[in-house]
Amino acid sequence: MRAVSGPQKHVVIIGGGPGGYESALVAAQLGARVTIVEDDGLGGAAVLTDCVPSKALIATSDFMSRFATAGRLGVGFEGTEEDQHAEANVDQVNHRIIDLAKAQSTDIRAQLESVGVQVRPGRGRLLGNGRVAADLSSGQTEEYDADVILVATGCKPRIMDTATPDGERILTWQQIYDLTELPDHLIVVGSGVTGAELAHAYLGLGCEVTLVSSRDRVLPGEDADAATVIENVFRRHGMKVLNRSRMQSVRREGDGVVVTLEDGREVTGSHALLAVGSVPQTKGIGLEEAGVELSKSGHIVVDRVSRTSAQGVYAAGDCTGVLPLASVAAMQGRIAMAHSLGDAVAPLNLRGVCANIFTDPEIATVGYSQADVEEGRIEARVVTLPLSTNPRAKMRNIRDGFVKLFTRPGSNTIIGGVVVAPQASELIYPIGLAVQNRLTVDQVANTFSVYPSMTGSIAEAARRLHSHDV
Ligand SMILES: Cc1cc2nc3c(=O)[nH]c(=O)nc-3n(C[C@H](O)[C@H](O)[C@H](O)COP(=O)(O)OP(=O)(O)OC[C@H]3O[C@@H](n4cnc5c(N)ncnc54)[C@H](O)[C@@H]3O)c2cc1C
Repeated sequence: MRAVSGPQKHVVIIGGGPGGYESALVAAQLGARVTIVEDDGLGGAAVLTDCVPSKALIATSDFMSRFATAGRLGVGFEGTEEDQHAEANVDQVNHRIIDLAKAQSTDIRAQLESVGVQVRPGRGRLLGNGRVAADLSSGQTEEYDADVILVATGCKPRIMDTATPDGERILTWQQIYDLTELPDHLIVVGSGVTGAELAHAYLGLGCEVTLVSSRDRVLPGEDADAATVIENVFRRHGMKVLNRSRMQSVRREGDGVVVTLEDGREVTGSHALLAVGSVPQTKGIGLEEAGVELSKSGHIVVDRVSRTSAQGVYAAGDCTGVLPLASVAAMQGRIAMAHSLGDAVAPLNLRGVCANIFTDPEIATVGYSQADVEEGRIEARVVTLPLSTNPRAKMRNIRDGFVKLFTRPGSNTIIGGVVVAPQASELIYPIGLAVQNRLTVDQVANTFSVYPSMTGSIAEAARRLHSHDV
C-alpha cells in the first residue's frame, strides 16, 4: 500500500478499538493526516475488556484442564490424593490479564504514534458538516475539520432493569477481572458465545457453574451439531445447563445472588455473570443530527464499503451491527479508508470470515452453514467426519469433535466448513483459504497433510466428497 496522490486529507476517527485503530494505520499509510479520539484506551473494548482478556482467561482455564486429563495419558502426580489438583490464584490470573491487556494497548498507541497518528484521549461527537468535537479528559474541548470521519464506537453490555450489575456479585463480562477470588458458584446468564465461553472458562478454573439458557440448547446461533457437542461436554464436566430457562431478574441476597426465572424457579449462587447481549454506543454523539441513519436497534446503517447515509462519514465495527468480530471491525475500517482516500477497494465479503468459539473443544466456522442449507439459501453437499477416527486425535486423547465440509454441487468448490476440535481456531484457516479462493474438493484432497495430524481430517473429508460424486 502506498500514499494516494493529491492534497493531504484529514481523517478523524472516533473510537480506538480494532475498527478505529486499524483504520488509523491504513489512513496514515495512505498519506492522510489522522486524528483518533478514544475515551477508554487504545485497543478499545476488544483489547481492554472483551476479546483479549477473555481469551487470556480461557488460556489459564485450558491449561488447568490439562491436569485433569493427564491421567488418561499415563501422567500421575506425586503426593497424596488431596494434593493432586491444580488450583488457580484468581487474583494473580486477573492481574496477569489486566497487565497483558494494558501492554497491548500501549503497543497499539506506540504503533499509531510511530506513523504520525494524533491520539486524543476523550469523547468524540459529530457536529455536522464535516466537523468533529472531542471533549478531552483534561476538560478541554477541541474541534476538528475532517475530510473523512470514521465512527467506530463499538458496543457495551446490555443491562436489564431487573438485573443491575453491582460490580461485586452481579457482574457484566467487563467486570470479572476485578474479582480477587474464584466464585464458589457462578451462574452465567445467557448461552450465546460470550456466555458459553466464560462458563467454560470458570468451569475449567474449578468453579461450580450453572448456565442459564433461554433456548433449547446452548449456542443457539451456531451449527447445531457443534453446539450439541459443546453442551454434552459441559454437562459431562459437571456444568449444570438449564435450557428453556429465561432469566427474569437477578438480585443480591446476603453473600450470594438469586436468579429468578420466568417460570418462577429460583437459582441461587455466589455470583451471577450477565451475558445477555450488547447495545451499540451510538447515542448522544450527534449521529442523527449529522444525517447518519441508525437502525431500530441503534446500529449505524452502512453499505459494503462502510459508507453511512451522511456524506464523508463512514462507520466500522460493532456499532454497525454487521458481524461482531474484531477481524470484521478491522476489515470494515480498512475498506472505509481505502474507499475514502481513493485506494483500490473490494467491498466487504462476509462469506470468507473465519469465526471461532473458544470453548473446549473450540468451534470454528467459515462460509455457508448447515442452517443455510436446511433453510434453502444454498444447495450443498455435506460431509461430517468425527475426529474419533483421526490417529492424532487418538494420540492426544481427543474424544469430541468433527470436521464438516460443504461443497457446491456441480463445481465441487468448498463453500463452508465447521471444525469442532481443540484449537479449531488454528485448523479453520485451510478451509477459509479454500472458501475464499473457491478451491475444489479435489484440490484440497490432493494437498499433502502431515501424518499424523488433525488437518488430515480436513483432507479426508474432502476426499469423501469426491467419492460422493462417482
Ligand atoms: C467477551 C467477548 C469476547 C470476544 N472475543 C472475541 C474474539 O475472540 N474474537 C473476535 O474477533 N471478536 C471477539 N469479540 C468481539 C470483539 O470484541 C468486537 O467485535 C470488537 O471489539 C469490535 O471492535 P470495535 O472497534 O467495533 O469496538 P470496540 O473494541 O468496542 O472499541 C470501541 C471503542 O470506542 C470507544 N468509544 C465509544 N464511544 C466513544 C466516543 N464517543 N468517543 C471516543 N471513544 C469512544 C469505546 O470506549 C471503545 O474503546 C468478543 C466480544 C466479547 C464481548
